[in-house]
Amino acid sequence: MSESKVKSYCNSFPVTFTKAKDEILIDDNGKKYIDFFAGAGALSYGHNNDELKKDLLDYIKKDYITHGLDLQTPAKQEFIKIFHKNILEPRNLDYLMQFTSPSGTNANEAAMKLARKYTKRKTIFSFTGNFHGMSTGSLSITGNSYYREGIPMSSSDVVFMPFEKGFMDELDSIKYIENILSNPSSGVDIPAAMIIETIQAEGGVNIASSKWLQQIRRLCDQYNILLICDEVQVGCGRTGSFFSFEESEITPDIITMSKSISGYGLPMSIVLLKPHLDCWTSGQHNGTYRGNQHAFVTEKKALELRDRVNLDEIVRHKSELAMNYLISELKEFDLIKIRGKGLIIGVDIGQIDKNLAKKISIICFKKGLVIECAGKFNEVLKILPSLLISEKLLLDGLKIIVRAIKDTL
Ligand code: PLP
Repeated sequence: MSESKVKSYCNSFPVTFTKAKDEILIDDNGKKYIDFFAGAGALSYGHNNDELKKDLLDYIKKDYITHGLDLQTPAKQEFIKIFHKNILEPRNLDYLMQFTSPSGTNANEAAMKLARKYTKRKTIFSFTGNFHGMSTGSLSITGNSYYREGIPMSSSDVVFMPFEKGFMDELDSIKYIENILSNPSSGVDIPAAMIIETIQAEGGVNIASSKWLQQIRRLCDQYNILLICDEVQVGCGRTGSFFSFEESEITPDIITMSKSISGYGLPMSIVLLKPHLDCWTSGQHNGTYRGNQHAFVTEKKALELRDRVNLDEIVRHKSELAMNYLISELKEFDLIKIRGKGLIIGVDIGQIDKNLAKKISIICFKKGLVIECAGKFNEVLKILPSLLISEKLLLDGLKIIVRAIKDTL
């Protein structure tokens, strides 16, 4: 096949998938797979969700606008209205919405540009283990050096600070950052922004505590630094609340969203910015594909659906079920660490052997489960199913993982 060597997921899952429904993928031999990958987090409502699909098909049949740049359309206006009513207002949040090119990485580019423009500072603080995307700016704030290998590029305006977990756990990262900021001889300029993931998803499901997030917010306030929260993978209900930072009660200045914002796997990205930060001039962060009309339609339905079924409660319940099951089934393995919040759960096997998770994900795939690895050495199995997965399928998938681990160790 004439595809570049850059392809990756199809190397991990080397079959031809022909169909998909809800939490099941089907290959061209008719074999079914439980999906614990959910389009890398873009399919929080599963594949081809019936309710979302119905509204999308109605919209297409009526020849409503498909490609709209950032023109006003009823689909866009209705989406903005329901996002305000169902998401922002109940949480007392006041943000403007900026539609960017439809990838998480472009939302992050926009967020960094805005922070630099607003503060007139150039440095950005990122954190060890963070992942923000593949375009040059986002790559410069991404920890994992694999993605930069052999690509001479400058990240000179970015400084990495230690994340709370997964780097040097004995280090007091807040104290370290505080010292850097307060010491005029630290050699590091006060940044325009700090960009955080409340849970480092690609980084290996490293979960920041509420206390750490609050301390980061406090430091940002103290030094007039903007706080950007990348919600691309763990937003949109993944952690049991619409925004992953809700439990910590922090309010970021800028939020980036993508992946499951359309609910249907359709590309769309949003930057939420505090109104006073809106120093853009018209078209200054432009793009041909901003505000995917079809995604507006499916996300509107997804937002209605999440309220109707009380999705957050369902996610928290299934999370508890999954965590309890894994902890109890794997208790004999002291070195296996299980971390999770909502329906992002990491099974960290790195302390036994950092290459083992990959081997186990291959075994799982043969047994009919699609699951990816994360972490600095791909040492963590990352469980990321649709939020609507049935309890039975969730447990069936977990059983495949537990069996594969027990058979291997
Ligand atoms: N930010 C986070 C936290 C992500 O997990 C990802 C992708 O996995 C991105 C940004 C990049 O998003 P995209 O692949 O849509 O550019």
